[in-house]
Order: sequence, then C-alpha cells, then structure tokens
Amino acid sequence: MSTAPSASSSKRYVAPAIAGDAAALTPQQRELLGRVAELGPHWAERAERHDREASFPRENFDELRAAGLLGLAVPQHCGGLGADFATCVLVVAEMGRWCGSTALSFNMHVNPCLWSGLVADALDMGAAERAAHERIRARHCERIVGEGRLYAQPLSEGGAAAALAAPWGTVARKVAGGYVVSGRKIFASMAGAADFYGVLCTLEPGTESGSGTQRDAIFLAVPAAAAGVSVEGDWDALGMRGTVSRNLRFADVHVADDARLLPEGLYEQAARRFPHVFTTHAATYLGVAQAAYDFTVQYLRAEVPGMPRVPRRQYPTKQHAVAQMRTRLEAARALFLLNARDARIDPDKDARMRLLAAHYTVMEHANDVCRLAVRTCGGQGMFRHLPLERLYRDSRCGSLMLPLTAELCMDHLGRECLYEDGEGDEAIE
Ligand SMILES: Cc1cc2nc3c(=O)[nH]c(=O)nc-3n(C[C@H](O)[C@H](O)[C@H](O)COP(=O)(O)OP(=O)(O)OC[C@H]3O[C@@H](n4cnc5c(N)ncnc54)[C@H](O)[C@@H]3O)c2cc1C
Repeated sequence: MSTAPSASSSKRYVAPAIAGDAAALTPQQRELLGRVAELGPHWAERAERHDREASFPRENFDELRAAGLLGLAVPQHCGGLGADFATCVLVVAEMGRWCGSTALSFNMHVNPCLWSGLVADALDMGAAERAAHERIRARHCERIVGEGRLYAQPLSEGGAAAALAAPWGTVARKVAGGYVVSGRKIFASMAGAADFYGVLCTLEPGTESGSGTQRDAIFLAVPAAAAGVSVEGDWDALGMRGTVSRNLRFADVHVADDARLLPEGLYEQAARRFPHVFTTHAATYLGVAQAAYDFTVQYLRAEVPGMPRVPRRQYPTKQHAVAQMRTRLEAARALFLLNARDARIDPDKDARMRLLAAHYTVMEHANDVCRLAVRTCGGQGMFRHLPLERLYRDSRCGSLMLPLTAELCMDHLGRECLYEDGEGDEAIE
C-alpha cells in the first residue's frame, strides 16, 4: 500500500473525527459534534492565555451556554438535550482537542447531570422517593437549562475517600428543611467559576461525628454563593491550568433539602452499579492526544500556520514515529469507543474489566502520544506560542485522577483477572 504523496500534491491534512465514521453516529451526535467544531477554534486561540494565566476560560463557557450545550446531559423532559453516555463523552473528546481545560471543566459540569439524570433513572427507588427526586431534579435542571448555571463536582479530599475506599471527610448534618455541610475539598475544577458545587458528604446519623461509611454518602449541590463557602489556596499546576482546581472550604453551610442531587443513601448504589461515570474524564485526554497527533502531522507536513515551510515528513524516522503515535491513538480510541457504548447499569464483569483497561489505556497512551509528539517534532515544536508543550503538560494529568488513577486501574484489573466475584483465597485448596 503506497501512501507516498506526490511532489506536486497541494492537499492539506484533514484531521479525522475522534468519533470515527459519521455514518455510524446518531443525528443528535452529528449535530452536537458540529456545534463543538464551530466553537473549538475560538477556544484554541484562547488556550495559550488561560494556560499562562491559570485563568478559567469564562468566554468558552459563555459560548457553550449560548450554544445550548450546558444542558447536554439534562433529561429531555427537564428541558435538556438528553444525551446518552456515549454522546456525552464523544462531545467532551471533541472539546479536548481544542482546549483540554475547557473539556475537563465541562466534564465536571456534565457529571452531576449524569448522576442525577440517566443514572438515577436506572436505579432502584420507591415511588415516593422517585417522585421527590423528579421534583428536586427539575429545579437543578431549570437552573442549568433556564438560568445557564454551571455545576462542578469537587469530590477529592486528599484521603482515601476519592478512591471510594473510605467515608467522605466532608459531613452533612440533617437539620429541619435541609442540611449543614462542613469540610474541605481539594482539586475543585471550576473553583470560583461554578455556581453550584456537587459535594459528596457523609450524612451524619446523629450527633456522633465521623461514624459513617461510603454507604452514608449524600450528594448535595452547594450554592457557591452560600454563606460559609470559600475558595482557598492557589492553582499553579503543571497542566490543565485553566481548570483552576483550587480548594474549597465549607464552614457550616446551610443548604435546603432540594440541594440533593440523588436521594439520601443512593449515591453508593449509583457508584457501584454505574461505574462508567467515573471514566468520563478520559474523553478530555483522548481529545488532547488527538490534538497532539494532528499537530505533529501538520508540523511534519510544514502546514502549521506561521511556521517556516520546512517539510520533515520525508525522513523515515519521522514516519516511523508518527506511525507509533497513530498506533497508540487508535488503540486508545478503539477502547474508548467500546467503553462509551458499554456504559449501562450493572455492567457484567467483562464490561467492568474493559472499563479499567480502556481507562488505563486512554490515560497512559494520551501522555505517550504527547511525549512522542514532542520528541518527533523536535526543538522548534516546543515553544510556548505553539500548543504542543501545553498538550504534553495537560496529558500528564489524566492518569493522576482518582478514583481511577493508572495505578488503581491496574490494581483493580489485576484482582478482577484473578478472582471471581465474591471469591477469596480460601477458595484455593
Ligand atoms: C487537572 C485536575 C483536575 C481535577 N479536578 C477534580 C475535580 O473537579 N473534582 C475532584 O473531585 N477531583 C479533581 N481532581 C483530583 C483527582 O481526581 C485526584 O483526587 C487527585 O489528583 C488526587 O491527588 P492526591 O495526590 O491527593 O492523591 P492521593 O489520594 O494522595 O493518591 C496518590 C496516589 O496513591 C494511590 N492511591 C490513592 N488511594 C489509594 C487506595 N485507596 N489504594 C491504593 N492506592 C491508592 C493512587 O494511585 C494515587 O495516584 C483533579 C485532578 C487534576 C490533576
């Protein structure tokens, strides 16, 4: 198979869609991906500034609001677009190729919508509980769709809770008409920019502090403007600097009963039965890797605007390197798409294992594709006015993110490979 371009060729590289063959997409997916393709180039222009300043890309979210995309995962009967899981992650992946920080922040907005939307719809609930959830959810949805509010998802606390291995240190105490929230969250993407923080807390059973477990988790949307909410610390990080993931403190914050994103006691069921929601941020990193690949091809073809027209594609070493990048990207993308379509309540063991393999592969390969991109493009490709060094730094962040860091993916997958459900070592005679 010959792919050598002719000397007279005036063709330019056309970057492929991450979602693949458009004919295999739903009309809604095609339409939404088209909206992102219109917005993305503006975000790419702003990305360098937000990265340099570590500032939140507010203009990008204004555009998302105007394009009606804040309601992506809000159920249709609540006024949203009602996108399914696969559609949400495809949209975020396409965002990631233009601006990693915008995509990752948007992912944090989408996640509370997923938990209270399609995940809640799949959970076991009594009729009264479901009716109450519908009523409360309608209020959250109205805020997002009608008022253009942004929700964030600060779960991490610096202990084992974000790995789902310990109770949340942030606590919610039941009081008449609502809850009082106290605690601290770290790495809160969109700190200071979100209107509501979707906070996981341990619901205290009574006056006995610290007696809960993960089963006592409650998911509350705390208004950013509520008395007792403060943003702390700085955000001078290696990558994803536009997420402004600073710390949050909640000092006896009163919230109403309708702050609940899920009914009391249901978060644990949701987390156990719908684990794919913990992998949505992989979409951002696949987008970042795609952008690094696209840049490399354009660079080697001497098609990067503003750069001297010095082609480098004729060198076999460059061809080999770009083939390595493409191989890693294809492997990550194939598993990502499979995982996106696997997402459902109660995935079987095979799907759960694929989830871990997919997440690990996307996160590690994304960083590897970016590493190869920097090495392959060479010295002139790494200047700050070009996107490559930022993509490289952004890509490093993915596999550090809980609850499925690269290490924990391997940990869980290794056990799943060697033990059947409920099996212990005593089963070995
Ligand atoms: C750019 C960026 C944006 C983020 N945005 C958000 C956000 O919006 N919301 C949010 O909730 N979080 C967010 N996070 C935080 C992220 O999910 C992690 O919680 C955070 O990176 C953990 O950092 P840590 O050093 O405290 O991890 P630690 O908890 O100290 O873990 C360090 C390492 O130890 C391992 N480890 C941890 N717990 C266990 C365990 N129980 N068993 C075995 N090994 C374990 C893990 O592999 C982990 O890599 C963000 C992170 C980044 C990098």
